[in-house]
Formats: sequence, C-alpha cells, structure tokens
Amino acid sequence: MLADSAKRLSEDTLMPILAREAADKPLSKPVMLEIYGHLAEFGITAARLHEDFGGSGLSMLDYGLIMEQLPPAIALSLLSHDGSTVRFNAGADEAVRDAYLPDFREGRKIVCTANSEPNAGSDSNTISTKLEIEGDRAFITGTKMWITNASVCDCMIVSCSAGNDERGRPVPQRVLVDLSQSKVGLAETPLAGLKQGHLCEVTFDRTEVPLSHLIGSPGDAGKYMTIVWNANRPLIGLMALNIARRAYDMALAHVTDRKQFGSPLAAKQLVQQDLSDMEAAITSARLTCLMALATLDTGARSNGISAMAKRLATENANRVVHTAMQLCGGMGVTEELGLAQLWADARVFQVPDGTQGILALIHGRDITGTAAWR
Ligand SMILES: Cc1cc2nc3c(=O)[nH]c(=O)nc-3n(C[C@H](O)[C@H](O)[C@H](O)COP(=O)(O)OP(=O)(O)OC[C@H]3O[C@@H](n4cnc5c(N)ncnc54)[C@H](O)[C@@H]3O)c2cc1C
Repeated sequence: MLADSAKRLSEDTLMPILAREAADKPLSKPVMLEIYGHLAEFGITAARLHEDFGGSGLSMLDYGLIMEQLPPAIALSLLSHDGSTVRFNAGADEAVRDAYLPDFREGRKIVCTANSEPNAGSDSNTISTKLEIEGDRAFITGTKMWITNASVCDCMIVSCSAGNDERGRPVPQRVLVDLSQSKVGLAETPLAGLKQGHLCEVTFDRTEVPLSHLIGSPGDAGKYMTIVWNANRPLIGLMALNIARRAYDMALAHVTDRKQFGSPLAAKQLVQQDLSDMEAAITSARLTCLMALATLDTGARSNGISAMAKRLATENANRVVHTAMQLCGGMGVTEELGLAQLWADARVFQVPDGTQGILALIHGRDITGTAAWR
C-alpha cells in the first residue's frame, strides 16, 4: 500500500510538475517548495526523524519502498534534506532546534549538508573550511563543492574544521548556517544528468554565525556523516534502479514493436537474453538494496552491506540503460527517445555518498577487517 500510494504521488503529482518545467534546468525555489509541500503532506520530509521529535520514524525498508517510486531528481533532493534534518537534530541546542525543526519537518524550509571541498572529496575528513570563534561570535571561511540543494536551501549543515587534533588532522564541527542571517556565495554547477536537480559551489568569506548554531561536539561531524551515508547508499541504489526500470520498459516496448528479418526483435534469441540479463540485474540489485535497508532496521553494523548495495545497484543500473540503448538501435542514441538522458542520469549516482572505488574499499574493510584507503 505504501509503495502504491508513493507511485500515485509520483505519477499524479510530482511527474506532472517536472513535465511542466524546463527539463534541462535546475527547478526554481518556488517549484521546489511546491514539491516539498506535497512530500510533507505524504509524511516524508522528515522520514528518518524519530517520532519523539515529530518525524515519521519510518523503517528504512519502508522508506526504500517509497524512495524507489519517486522521480530520482526529487528523491536525491529529499535524501539530502531528510539526512540533514537528522544531522541537525542530533546535537542541536534546544532553542535552536525549536526554532528550525518544525520548518524542516514540514518542508517549509529546505536544508542541506555541505561537507565536500575542492581538496576533500572521498577523503572526506580532510576538510579545511575554517571555524574561528571570537568572543560570542563564530566565523566560517572556505569553499564547499558539489552540494545538493544548496542553491534552493534555507539552511545548511556545514562541516568545518575547529582546529587540529594531536595527529594534525582537522577536528570536524557541524555548524548550522541560516542563509537569511549569514552571507554565503552560491554558484550552480551544471550537471550532465538529473538536470532539474541542484548542485552548487558554496563560498564562505568570514561568514558570521551565532555560537548557538554550533551543533554537537567538536569531532563528531564525521560520525553523523557516516550514520546518514550508510542509510543513503541503498536508497541511492534504488533511485538508480528506478531509472534502469524505465529504460528497460522503453527497450521492451521498442523490441516488441520493431520488426527486423521478418519478425519482432523481441522474438530473437539474443534479444531475449539481453532482456533476461536486464531483468536479473534490476531484481538482484533491488533485493540487495532492500536487504541492506532491512539490516539497518535491525541496528546491526551495515557499512559493508550498504556500500555493496549502492555499488551493485548503480553499476547494474548503468549496464541496463546501456543495453536498453543498444536494443533501441539508432533510436537509442537520439535525444527523441530520452534514453540518452536516462544514461546521464544513472551515471550521476555513481559518485555521491561514495564513489564505486570507495564503496568497494568500505565493503572490503568489512570483509577483511583492514582499511585499504591510507
Ligand atoms: C550528484 C552529486 C551530489 C552530491 N551531493 C553532495 C552533498 O550534498 N554534500 C556534499 O558534501 N558533497 C556532495 N557531493 C560530493 C561527493 O560526495 C564527492 O564528489 C565524492 O565524495 C567524491 O569526491 P571527489 O569528487 O572529490 O572525487 P575524488 O575523491 O577525487 O575521487 C576521484 C576518483 O578516485 C577514486 N579514489 C579516491 N580515493 C581512492 C583510493 N584511496 N583508492 C582508490 N581509488 C580512490 C574514487 O573512487 C574516484 O573514482 C555530491 C556529488 C555529486 C556528483
């Protein structure tokens, strides 16, 4: 029932909004707020937030069944917003929580997380964005890159370096930056896929924030990044598979219709093998993602399985779209059919919240007990 109603939300409400807007441009803030209004009504703008804080407290498995139905550009934005709400809630000062949480929860304000920097991508702990505290004021200086939602958000959870530890590594501190109070520079970064979504460079030039906006304790930002990433990874896998399923459906319709050598392509043995491979790739990866989410729900360690699920799902999704394009021949590589755009959309998911290589290393660490990235 949950999946069916999410499908209806997607088909009857969200996809018509996307179809109404330019397909190759980031959606405007008013359109994003309209979308968030619908997501809030459905109860998923704070899906992971515990009910004690007014969230939906959905199980990750249920959340996955919903997420796989949503248009991927919207799902990725929601993932950033919902994950950032969790990162905010864990450790926010009570008065600050009361001031912001209701708006995040109800989708009236959009929030995102800014961690990545020009020199801190996969090695996400090496951030250099500086936090300086002077009396009762705090200042942020630095640049963040590839931040989902940044150009349409109201607030950001920014990972800053609050100094260095005894081994010379940055001590990451979460800071809430309210764009209505603090000045930041924003520049949209055009993406090859998911073009209605938002990816942004953010600059802080001694951006002033109140001390009360420091969240949690110095050093705990990495822990909350990882907690959210572990849940995000299989969810991103399901978003990529949403694209793969659409590509598969388009290819199946094409080979059923198109005749060559006197019969439909669908009747050819090699074409049937391709269809079987595509269906198997989607189904096996989908079940792996759902299993990773169910593992998270048990509270068991899930770093390895969650990394494995995203890597498998995004890899399979890309392979399925590639085969779908081939099955459609000339049509497959035209703009007209839309498969080329799905190809670019699916490709994007192989980078955020862990590249394919880094996900293999996280999984490998769980298998061997040895971290290989240093
Ligand atoms: C659509 C999208 C949304 C994003 N949203 C956000 C967001 O909301 N907030 C945010 O903070 N960031 C966000 N990011 C940034 C994202 O987290 C980084 O792009 C990602 O972590 C990879 O970092 P990088 O691009 O610097 O690549 P790099 O770290 O430079 O990696 C480049 C290549 O080197 C490989 N590599 C790196 N280290 C190793 C190693 N030790 N061994 C072997 N191979 C290695 C990687 O696998 C990769 O293939 C987003 C990115 C995208 C594309």
